[in-house]
Amino acid sequence: MEKFIDINEIPFPLSPVQPSLIEGDAKIQFQCHKGIACFNACCKNIDISLTPYDILRLKHRLDMTSSDFLVKYTIPYELEKQSLAGVKLLPVENGTACQFMTEEGCSVYEDRPTACRYYPVALLSMRKQNEYTEREAYAMVKEEHCLGHFEPRTITINEYRKEQGVEEYDEHGKGWRQLVLKKKSSGPSIGTPSKRSLQLFFMACYDIDNFRKFVMSDSFNEVYDLSAEVKEQLQNDEIVLMNFGFQLIRHVMFNEPSIPMKADALDKRVARKKEREEVLDGIVQKLGPMEQLEPEDKYKHLD
Ligand code: SF4
Ligand code: SF4
Repeated sequence: MEKFIDINEIPFPLSPVQPSLIEGDAKIQFQCHKGIACFNACCKNIDISLTPYDILRLKHRLDMTSSDFLVKYTIPYELEKQSLAGVKLLPVENGTACQFMTEEGCSVYEDRPTACRYYPVALLSMRKQNEYTEREAYAMVKEEHCLGHFEPRTITINEYRKEQGVEEYDEHGKGWRQLVLKKKSSGPSIGTPSKRSLQLFFMACYDIDNFRKFVMSDSFNEVYDLSAEVKEQLQNDEIVLMNFGFQLIRHVMFNEPSIPMKADALDKRVARKKEREEVLDGIVQKLGPMEQLEPEDKYKHLD
């Protein structure tokens, strides 16, 4: 069950996603409960994209570091061709079922991901060409195996979001969705992101424990000018850290500078580069004249 859907990808023929977009006050007929004949059917064949906040919730639930969680429970995928990476739940070995599914239902129910909460509603984040802000609309996902659509209950999407505890997840997932949408809608105008900025995107969005170490490192603080108070917040509050990650990605990837930088950061970098070049020059001098060597051999001496 895939529930985060890019506006560019719907509707398409034979899709379980109903083609019409609906607003939050639209009424749907749906109810899922333990006694239903299809109980767990949707968790037996998963395709669940995770938001950064989903990962925070799950790694705490499982008392794991973000790196360990990523290795054990997720698989990366391309959100965009040769560009931003996303993360999906990794099914059980040699199967398609969710690793968190049990006979009794979801074993991480209180911390289940956003997509699981929304189902069978699909959240669509989109921005029209003439609009500066993103807006959200919804679509229904109707899959044959899901009998919840035949249950005698009507509810508005807004009420359903409240019932499923989605509002908090949406609030904390917003910054990430905006980044993804911005990258998709900006197309080639921001150029191809460097490998390093794509790595930063991955770490800041999905590997929060390593991102914290990075933000606290000397090399980071040599460049960025963060007050002691801000650093303490980043160290102790993961939501603040996660949002700072989104801000840093905008700063680095989309050239929207908002994080104060140290005035001498560039000078220090230039000085270090110069120092490295001087050391290299010293080595080259010790090796003697190099023009007589074939180009390939030159570099072997410096390995
Ligand atoms: S996290 Fe829970 S609700 Fe979501 S697919 Fe897995 S078992 Fe189902
Ligand atoms: S009603 Fe739909 S969402 Fe609920 S268990 Fe059945 S298939 Fe899953």
